[in-house]
Amino acid sequence: MYIVVKCSFCDKPAIYYNKISGLAYCKVHFIEYFERKVRKTIRKYRMLNPGDHVVVGVSGGKDSMALLHFLLKMKRKILGLEVTAVLVDEGIKGYREKTIPNLTRYAEARGVKYIIAPFKDYIGATLDEIVETSFTRKLPYMPCSYCGVFRRNVLNIVAREVNATVIATAHNLDDVIQTYLMNLINNSWDRILSLAPVREAKGEGIVKRIKPFYEMPEKETALYALINRLVEPEFHQCPYVKYNVRFTIRKVLNELEDRYPGSKHGLLRSLLDIISLHEKAGLLKKEYTKCKICGSPASHSICRSCIFRAELGLLKRDEKSKLEEIINLEPEIKHLLKHYHNLS
Ligand code: SF4
Ligand code: ZN
Repeated sequence: MYIVVKCSFCDKPAIYYNKISGLAYCKVHFIEYFERKVRKTIRKYRMLNPGDHVVVGVSGGKDSMALLHFLLKMKRKILGLEVTAVLVDEGIKGYREKTIPNLTRYAEARGVKYIIAPFKDYIGATLDEIVETSFTRKLPYMPCSYCGVFRRNVLNIVAREVNATVIATAHNLDDVIQTYLMNLINNSWDRILSLAPVREAKGEGIVKRIKPFYEMPEKETALYALINRLVEPEFHQCPYVKYNVRFTIRKVLNELEDRYPGSKHGLLRSLLDIISLHEKAGLLKKEYTKCKICGSPASHSICRSCIFRAELGLLKRDEKSKLEEIINLEPEIKHLLKHYHNLS
């Protein structure tokens, strides 16, 4: 016998039940609930302003397609809002080419501006080539570390190229608290404190970054993408997933939430409190500097992406000369380049 749960707002059958609030939603009321909640997050953290040009980081997966779809709808509500989708193609054979068509199909059918930015063009090699070089050179980094750093870097460069005022990424509540726990385990407080929903454009050449899905659980962003038919229902998995501790943490957090509903929101609240306490105590990093090689946001004279590129032998000749100059002027940065074998 099947029990059909009815929507809490009409007579239609429910497609989603929220364990925390005890409310059930049909398709129409779920979309209404989801969009209202994201709009509230955008207002609460002052993410968008009239006339903003938003670059949306899109992978072609469910979260980023959901964000693109939602932000395009926001054009009706925010005067002069411009949206450009940017897909950073890492070059992961057998994986990324399966998700790219989700974006191209969607964008072409609706006349949405999109840009595909390959690692090969911006970084100098595909992620597959990078991983191979890294293993050969015995560098101590996992594929996802390169992927995350380079993806952020390419998105920044493209945002500056198209004069965007905001970069929006589809990190949802689950992503944020997974990163929070991973960094707690590594005692990386700088990274924890950078997990705020908004990073303002403090510093020259720095584009404001926002996470509109900050308070949305992954199952809600996924459902929003599926009911709006934004992605193909089949699931594709990156071959490098096995190297990432995130997926174990994700499993543990899902089990915790299953047994103790509300745990994920509790963790997010504790993260926000920690960030706010540091902010009030004046302990948050106020400004990023500009990388002296590529112009991207950096905590030192050189950004993480350029350090990786140096270690992988991917700097162009003029960039390499710049690096040597920087090392001569600031020998103390050598400690960041421990694995850079071509130091003169
Ligand atoms: Fe990149 Fe890792 Fe995600 Fe694969 S699993 S797309 S390598 S971050
Ligand atoms: Zn750089």
